[in-house]
Amino acid sequence: MTALRVLSVVPEIFPLIKTGGLADVAGALPGALAAEDVAVRSLVPGYPPVLQAMDGATVVHRADDPYAWPDNGFRFAALSRIGALIGLGALGVYRPDVVHAHDWQGGLMPAYLHYAADPHPPSVMTVHNLAYQGQFPTGYLAALGLPAAAYAIDGVEYYGSIGYLKAGLQFADRITTVSPTYAQEICTPSGGMGLDGLLRARHAVLEGIRNGIDTEVWNPADDPHLAVSFDVDRLEARAVNKAALQTRFGLEPDARRLLFGVVSRLASQKGIDLLLEALPTLVAAGAQLALLGAGDANLEAALRSMAVLHRGSIGIQFGYDEALAHLIQGGSDALLVPSRFEPCGLTQLCALRYGALPVVARVGGLNDTVIDANEAALAAGVATGFQFAPVEVAALVAAIERALAVWRQPQQWRHMQRNAMQFDVSWRTPARRYAALYRELVATRTERG
Ligand code: ADP
Repeated sequence: MTALRVLSVVPEIFPLIKTGGLADVAGALPGALAAEDVAVRSLVPGYPPVLQAMDGATVVHRADDPYAWPDNGFRFAALSRIGALIGLGALGVYRPDVVHAHDWQGGLMPAYLHYAADPHPPSVMTVHNLAYQGQFPTGYLAALGLPAAAYAIDGVEYYGSIGYLKAGLQFADRITTVSPTYAQEICTPSGGMGLDGLLRARHAVLEGIRNGIDTEVWNPADDPHLAVSFDVDRLEARAVNKAALQTRFGLEPDARRLLFGVVSRLASQKGIDLLLEALPTLVAAGAQLALLGAGDANLEAALRSMAVLHRGSIGIQFGYDEALAHLIQGGSDALLVPSRFEPCGLTQLCALRYGALPVVARVGGLNDTVIDANEAALAAGVATGFQFAPVEVAALVAAIERALAVWRQPQQWRHMQRNAMQFDVSWRTPARRYAALYRELVATRTERG
């Protein structure tokens, strides 16, 4: 069997450039696919950190946030167009069997292929977050090199603009998203963000494949960012990390207090406003919070006031800090993820692997990856965390209280930690599914001739 060649078109890739989970996926999936005999090459814009990592390249691009630019419509159309040209064989030496676009930034690639005259490879469009859709003015059409006919409801037109993600969803041979529950949610009016009609129409080619995490980067048994490494048979060692975390966040160094961690973008999606409202109850119950986050200025200000009000119980660090994220996973007792929607979510996967029990909203990938400690699951001994629904303060508070109730039964807590750490969060199973999907596409294409 010769390796299948896949060109992955991505706007960010760990460890070179990262704003969120998509970078982790783009960075880790190719390695997992190699084990399935799929050879992935990634097409990434030449941001300064990307070029600095290459020999002989010169930085001609702009620094900082990859998306904070007024000409994004042209920048990512260029990325998609180059992806399409490579798909059509423009490089000569390299021609992919399948092309794979990620999020709106790669969305035009399937459209470019569709309007190309030549035979082209099958395409996959993956939605990592439907909230970011990439809408740009109709006037761009000619400059983007798309035919006038493309501006149609069954083309790239989207509510009076050009929709990049819409284009990808319209023209890709297969659509995937990052968890089975999110695949269902995005087909409903409440979760579809304007695209549910199209997604329902394309339901037959839509599939949810949950993300994994890089289990070498996230390995509690060998993690340079922890005070001490540990594994499922040496869980006592976690206490050292908890103490280090409490010190780092200015929290009272008390092993008996349940320490909740948060690692998150500070955005409405992540339900941080709900968490703010739940904090007085959390503190009154004797628990602590260590939060690492960056984003919305209002949320930062509100969190800062909470930390001042509850010194010793609430500790906050603002900014993006990969190393500290590891210490929070390895030192907190539980990880809070109160997202309003969550396509997959990676932080709860890291939490499972590090034995920090996830307390999550029952949405998207959080629903698919955390086994709620309800009576039945506890009786069967399979629970790994706590889910709450609906995504409202009262339900979040109730879940925090349920976590505290289990915390008071240390053996039960330990048992759940062991379950959590044994849950498979790796890329192995999802990578197999992607590999199968690519092969199905190539086989269908070959049958059709
Ligand atoms: P999203 O992509 O919506 O932000 P995910 O849970 O899918 O959410 O992925 C977030 C990724 O970014 C995880 O790897 C998480 O550890 C990391 N992360 C988020 N915020 C921070 C932060 N402030 N510092 C360090 N890492 C962060």
